[in-house]
Amino acid sequence: MPDERVPLLDAGLPAGVRGGFTTRAGGRGPAPYDGLNLGDHVGDDPARVAAHREALRAAVGAEHLVVGEQVHGADVVEVHGPPAVVPRADALITAVPGLALAVVVADCVPVLLADPRAGLVAVAHAGRPGLVAGVVPAVVAALRARGAQDLVAVLGPSVCGGCYEVPQAMSDEVAARVPAARARTRRGTPAVDVAAGVLAQLERLAVPASRVERCTVEDDDLFSYRREGRTGRSGGVVVLA
Ligand SMILES: [Zn+2]
Repeated sequence: MPDERVPLLDAGLPAGVRGGFTTRAGGRGPAPYDGLNLGDHVGDDPARVAAHREALRAAVGAEHLVVGEQVHGADVVEVHGPPAVVPRADALITAVPGLALAVVVADCVPVLLADPRAGLVAVAHAGRPGLVAGVVPAVVAALRARGAQDLVAVLGPSVCGGCYEVPQAMSDEVAARVPAARARTRRGTPAVDVAAGVLAQLERLAVPASRVERCTVEDDDLFSYRREGRTGRSGGVVVLA
């Protein structure tokens, strides 16, 4: 059960928007989920995960917290209230104050987007497949279709290019779609930098973006699938105040 307030890494979100990124701090459980595990699909006790999500909701002062069923796709779902069925999508948007949106990650890139003047926020989960599928450009398009004109984006901690080794063919395949994502590990082997790719997609769309520069693989305070295999999930959360 949560044993303390949930601390959030500051995302530098604009006034009128609350949110940020969780670490392992603020929750507890047995290894390999020790810490504030927010993932309900990784084998942890569902009651403990629900309690952690409730603590996250309270931490951002929201009335409700919505977490989608993430499938590494590019679908975008607009949420108007607590959904009867969990939305099956990696990107969620809302115009409802007090309705927090979250994604859960362990190396993938959590992305928060906001346009407080238009009264819109969104969250996206971008791993390597989501980068290639274009989940972030899709959510930007959806927000602009709903009237967003002054979007900003913040990327949370994720695996860095120096740690995300992949086969050469996979690095080439990703770089063919998103050249900025081509990377090398510190040992000089082929890699993918998903966050660099997402930042390039946002730059192309003229969305100002910043990044919390922490690597999940290198930082024991964060859950990392690459480092640990079976493990928990951290969260990126955003809500209109
Ligand atoms: Zn790293």
